[in-house]
Amino acid sequence: MAHYECVRCHRFFERVAFEEVCPVCFPIEEEEFRKIKEYLTAHPGATSNELMAVIGVSLKSIRRYLKEERLEIVGDNKGFIRCELCGKPLNSGRFCGGCYKEGQALRAKGIMGPYSDSSGKPGEEQQPKTRKEGIVYHGKKE
Ligand SMILES: [Zn+2]
Ligand SMILES: [Zn+2]
Repeated sequence: MAHYECVRCHRFFERVAFEEVCPVCFPIEEEEFRKIKEYLTAHPGATSNELMAVIGVSLKSIRRYLKEERLEIVGDNKGFIRCELCGKPLNSGRFCGGCYKEGQALRAKGIMGPYSDSSGKPGEEQQPKTRKEGIVYHGKKE
């Protein structure tokens, strides 16, 4: 396995599977996520600001947990995370439903390059007014 840069501390480490953090950060991350899970179980729909203030988790980590589908956005989605292909606001994961299959196909062929904004400017479209944006624990992958 090749050297992989830890997303938390940016040290390089030997990757065993598909982990994003090094063995030093792994227990820290587990503990952090356990706290988030606990907090969101008690306060579903908490905002990212709340999580940052109460748990001390970074915005970057929250965004990563969302992309990993460990957390999910509910309510008014202002594009906290977006589809990596078309830029559409997502609740969790890396691709929207429409791009998911295409993305999988492109990845399988190994021709998907870095993020390219070919579909025009995202974020200008009308957002329906729903309730306040918040985050819930996704549960699916645990
Ligand atoms: Zn690390
Ligand atoms: Zn998409």
